[in-house]
Amino acid sequence: MNEYWTIKEPTISGDDKDGREYMFQFFRNGQVGAMYWLPFVICPECEGGGGGGKDFPFLCPERLKTHPAIVNGVPVPLKEYKELVPVVQEELERIGIDSRKWMLDPVLGFGPGSHFADRIIEIPCHPSVSFHWDFSNATVSKEVKETFEREKITGIWFQEVNINWVGKFDLAKKKPSWDHMMWWMLDGCAEGTPKDYPGEDNPSRFGPLYGMTILNCAQVSDIVPSEVYPCCETCGSELGPSEPIEPSEWRNFLTQNQLISYDMFRVPYVQGTVISDRVRRIIEENGFTNCQLTKLEVRE
Ligand SMILES: [Zn+2]
Repeated sequence: MNEYWTIKEPTISGDDKDGREYMFQFFRNGQVGAMYWLPFVICPECEGGGGGGKDFPFLCPERLKTHPAIVNGVPVPLKEYKELVPVVQEELERIGIDSRKWMLDPVLGFGPGSHFADRIIEIPCHPSVSFHWDFSNATVSKEVKETFEREKITGIWFQEVNINWVGKFDLAKKKPSWDHMMWWMLDGCAEGTPKDYPGEDNPSRFGPLYGMTILNCAQVSDIVPSEVYPCCETCGSELGPSEPIEPSEWRNFLTQNQLISYDMFRVPYVQGTVISDRVRRIIEENGFTNCQLTKLEVRE
């Protein structure tokens, strides 16, 4: 029988009492974020849902980049959201994307909180790892992208990430000191780049890095209802697990009907991204870093 694994950001060990390991992980992972997304909704039915939305496998259409609801990230009333949907559809159609498929299907469709693929990264040190995480989304090195493409890994889609800021710290030469990490965390963590922290003059020379969108299997193959979280019937918000989810709520198994023919995919209530054994082998053989692989049980 085929084996399946999950890939996600490495878990910080329980004995990290002073938070040093957590800080170091933050330091080398950096902060990755979406630049444009559909707003969450102030919904009378679901109160805004619990999931983080889905990922469009395409960039934000140019004309939407200045739309207040797309840029602000502030939840909007239901009426305003309903008025926004046709505007987004029209812009998708304009750039040749089937808006019915992506916006209107109650199961497959993208609802409130869905991200466009445009991503931005800020990192306090020179990028040195294979995977940079933002919840379960990964931004990857050129080496990972090229390897996955050469191996024809299915279920994923890449888009170059905007490297907005890189600090003048090279982990290959020196590990950051406690003071150094505190400087970053206290001055910058909540707001983004710290004002006084020295940055590189030309951050783009550290690229390219690529956002890796994991296509929900249901978006690229036949609908498998067990593969998608239910959505609110009123506003379309994904009613996924609320974050942060309790560790006991995550599953460490797949069921037979969740086994599909893609190399990478997401499954509700399974933490991280499911990968085939072939992907696991490629990751290990290439020594890709900053990821944790866990074997999944397959139940009848
Ligand atoms: Zn709702």
